[in-house]
Amino acid sequence: MTLSDICHVCGMKPDSSIPSLEYHKMYFHFCSQQCRDTFNAHPSLYSVKIEKQQKHILKRRIMTLATPLDQDSNELLKTNLTEMMGIKDVSIEDNKVSISYDLLQVTRQQIENRLAEIGIKLGNDWMERLRRAWVHDSEENELDNLAAPIHYYHRPAPKH
Ligand SMILES: [Zn+2]
Repeated sequence: MTLSDICHVCGMKPDSSIPSLEYHKMYFHFCSQQCRDTFNAHPSLYSVKIEKQQKHILKRRIMTLATPLDQDSNELLKTNLTEMMGIKDVSIEDNKVSISYDLLQVTRQQIENRLAEIGIKLGNDWMERLRRAWVHDSEENELDNLAAPIHYYHRPAPKH
């Protein structure tokens, strides 16, 4: 079965250097490793055709940094985050980073992983850690819940 030449997570053009994934005997192609990981985490959510019904689950969250950043680090953080798929908006004030993103394309966990990669530390008192754990759980649950029933809604049309 041939699939459209779009990344099924974000709708962009796939990058041929990213390995395809097989799911239910169909091959899916991706624009980025991030989209591939996102698909792999909840394939049933993304395996339906998205051209007609691209969905978004927009989140706006505040992340607290360990300390306010200097100008250069602020720029580094902004550039790195806006490069990620699904991130709509980043604004930084003092040690608070406000981020809007599409949960169907990027999770808070992926955002935090990227920050760790570039060496930006998040606030680490117990309240912050608790809040983060809660956000991770609730995002996971939200995606799991979406992934579960979607087969019913997107059952292939009966053959004529
Ligand atoms: Zn993509």
